[in-house]
Amino acid sequence: MTDTIDISINKVNQSNIGTLDVHNIPFAKIYSDHMFEADYRDGEWKNFRIVPYQNISISPANNTLHYAITVFEGMKAYKNDAGEVLLFRPEANAKRLNISAERMCIPELPEELFMEALTTLIKLDSQWVPSVPGTSLYIRPFIFATDEYIGIRPSDTFKFMIITCPVGAYYSAPVNVKIETKFSRAMPGGTGFAKAGGNYAASLYPAKLAKAQGFDQLIWTDAETHEYIEESGTMNVMFIIDNTIITAPASGTILKGITRDSVLTLARDWGMKVEERKVTVKEVVEAAKNGTLQEAFGVGTAATIAHIARIGFEDEVYDLGPIEEREFSNKVLFELDRIKTGKAEDKFNWMLK
Ligand code: PMP
Repeated sequence: MTDTIDISINKVNQSNIGTLDVHNIPFAKIYSDHMFEADYRDGEWKNFRIVPYQNISISPANNTLHYAITVFEGMKAYKNDAGEVLLFRPEANAKRLNISAERMCIPELPEELFMEALTTLIKLDSQWVPSVPGTSLYIRPFIFATDEYIGIRPSDTFKFMIITCPVGAYYSAPVNVKIETKFSRAMPGGTGFAKAGGNYAASLYPAKLAKAQGFDQLIWTDAETHEYIEESGTMNVMFIIDNTIITAPASGTILKGITRDSVLTLARDWGMKVEERKVTVKEVVEAAKNGTLQEAFGVGTAATIAHIARIGFEDEVYDLGPIEEREFSNKVLFELDRIKTGKAEDKFNWMLK
C-alpha cells in the first residue's frame, strides 16, 4: 500500500435522506447514500473509492458464496448535542477485523486505511447519523473473498466495503434466554473468536429451535462439556453474584466484545469486583434458583445492555428479579449512553469526533 490513502468520491445526484423518518426507522432497511469499496489484487489493497450505495455484481463461482470466506465488524456512530458525529472505539473494530481476517486467510487491512475509509464515508454521510435520543448510525465494515474459483484454497482477491444504515432507538426489552446444552457455537481451535460469517450461519438453526420454545436467544456453552457458559447470540454475557461481576474469559471460543471490555473497564473503575473466568452453568442456575443471582445481562453493540428476564435450563425456567432493581446494569447502560453521545466525560479516550 502507498503512504497516502487516496479515496475517489463519486457522490449521488440526489440524496435518499428524504425517505428516512428518524422517529420510525425500520431496522436495516434503509441504507445511507454512499458506500466505501476497495479491492485486494496482486498482493495489495487498491482502488479506494466511495460510490453511491448500489448492488454489486459477483460471479456465481465467487468463493465466498460457497465457502464463507468473509469477516465483518459492527459499530455505531452517534450525534452529540452540538450535532457533531462521534464514533465509539473504532480502532478496536479495526484491530478485531484483522484478528478475524487472519483466521480466514484474508489479508491484513491496514488500520490507517480502515480509519480513513470510515471517517471519510461518515463525514460524507453525516446527515444520516440521526440525533433522536437512542438512535444511531450502524456501520458495517466487511471483507470477502472474490476469486472465481470453486476449489477450496485461500483466495487471491478480496473486497473491503463499508455500508451504513440508521437504526432506531433500541429499547432493549428484557430477554428470555435458554442455556444451550446440545448445539455448540465454537470449539477450542475453531473460529469462535473471529467475527466470521460462517459462525452466524451455524447459529441460526439452534436459535430457531429455541425461538420455537419461546426464548429470544441462546446462551452457548462450551462444546466439550456444556458445563461452562460462553456467550449469547451476538452478545457477551455477564452475571452478578455476591456483588461480583463474572463473565467468561476471552479465550478462543468467544468473540471479544468491545462492549464487554468497556463494561468491565467501567466496573473496575467504579471499584466493582470483576472476575473473568470460567463460569459454570451450575453456579448460575443454583444462584437463579436460590435468589442470589443479582443481575444477568448481555453486552454488545446492538443494545449495549440487554437485561435477561428469564433463564431456561433443561426443563425449568427461572425468573430473575425486577429489571428496575438491577443497579449495575442500569447504571452502566446509562453511563455508556452518555459517553457515546458526548454527555459524560470521555475518561478512557474512547470517542472519536
Ligand atoms: N459475541 C458475538 C458472537 C457477537 O456477534 C457480538 C457482536 N459483535 C458480541 C459478542 C459483542 O461484541 P461487541 O460488543 O463488540 O459488539
